[in-house]
Amino acid sequence: MRGAGGRAGLRVRLPRAATEAARCLGLADPLHRHAAEELRSVLEPNAERLRATLEAFSSADVGGTPRGGVSRPAASDADKAVRDRFAGMAGDLGLAVRVDDAGNMYARREGSRPDAEPVLVGSHLDTVVPGGRFDGILGVGLALETVALLNDADTRTARPVEVVNWTGEEGARFPPAMLGSGVVTGAWDVEYAHSRTDAAGARLGDELSRIGYLGERGNRLGSFFASLEAHIEQGTQLEEADADVGVVSFIEPVRWCTTRVTGRGGHAGGPGPDGRAEAMVAAARMVAAARDASLDSGDFKTTVGTMRVEPGSNNVIPHEVTFNLDIRSQDDDTLGQRLARVTERFDEIARQEGVEVAVEQAWALSGPPFDASVQQLLARVAGERGVRWAPVRGHIGHDSLHLASMGPAAMLFTRTQGGLSHCEGEFAPWESVLTTATVYANAALALADAETLT
Ligand SMILES: [Zn+2]
Repeated sequence: MRGAGGRAGLRVRLPRAATEAARCLGLADPLHRHAAEELRSVLEPNAERLRATLEAFSSADVGGTPRGGVSRPAASDADKAVRDRFAGMAGDLGLAVRVDDAGNMYARREGSRPDAEPVLVGSHLDTVVPGGRFDGILGVGLALETVALLNDADTRTARPVEVVNWTGEEGARFPPAMLGSGVVTGAWDVEYAHSRTDAAGARLGDELSRIGYLGERGNRLGSFFASLEAHIEQGTQLEEADADVGVVSFIEPVRWCTTRVTGRGGHAGGPGPDGRAEAMVAAARMVAAARDASLDSGDFKTTVGTMRVEPGSNNVIPHEVTFNLDIRSQDDDTLGQRLARVTERFDEIARQEGVEVAVEQAWALSGPPFDASVQQLLARVAGERGVRWAPVRGHIGHDSLHLASMGPAAMLFTRTQGGLSHCEGEFAPWESVLTTATVYANAALALADAETLT
């Protein structure tokens, strides 16, 4: 069977209805189509090739660890090696590779209308140390497989397709996270990104230059028609739903609040409990009160993962305790209201304990929800392919969070065993990977031929 403009015998299969629809629509001019219209062909991932691609991004010569993980901090020698490999693979697929001034790499497959805004696919190839062999890698691998499938089908999409490898998504070596995409979307100045330093004092700008991946500002992504990122879930929603792939509706907003409790110090053998103003006791009550408030309300959660005690001595009543309150909810408004409720409780406890408390926001992560039209397209493609999918929400920042502030962006999640991530045991079942690849490639094809999203 022949695909639209495709060669016989390749992997494109056109259902009869689609063939007829294609004839009626006149595919020589496919930009009249909407993303919601029927797909002109069905792309089926090449399992062997996809596996080889993913392995090529996690082998020992690009940072793979003996225990099956990957250690590849941004702008390291391993990062250079994997960037070289990405560029080589993209070149083999006929893509034109360029690098911008934040080190982001774009590999472009030209469309029949080169001036049309591109469809952006891809993710990141840096990892935490040690990290897994799926986080970020899967998204870049699926993007390259999508392009390979378009090549197999000899399909010229109307829009260009760009495969991106973002710099420093993890922020493991050069915090903050999502640095490269943050520069492109205007969250950070490039000077800020270049001046980030690692633990040894090396600057990101110098390190990008050292490995040969400090490109030009003019190479940045300008705008995009739609962005699609695949990523492992790093949670257990898909396992609980017994689904292989998730359509992500939004990423939960997060705030970090530095909470400083100031009391009165003294010797442990000194004043009795009545005469004290104990920062530690108040802080402990606050941690528990935040948890209790989240249990009562059921729509937010809090975590205290760090605490600094001054002076930090066995026989001294601490005069100051500082802890970070991590608070998350489904949307920014709810989050703000719940945080206000928690801080009211903190004030109440402080009064009861005779201490002072100050809560200051140190960091926040929030973005608009993912594009509804692209989500609908993903859900429709998943439905048409008969795969096990579920709507999910994200709990961790991704480059797509930045991208959602710039244009229509969406994400697919792949089932992750036990929710394990950022460790060498990170694992996504192969069936789930292939299912994600199918939905991803076909959705990308629909977008690349669409005039509008609705
Ligand atoms: Zn990631």
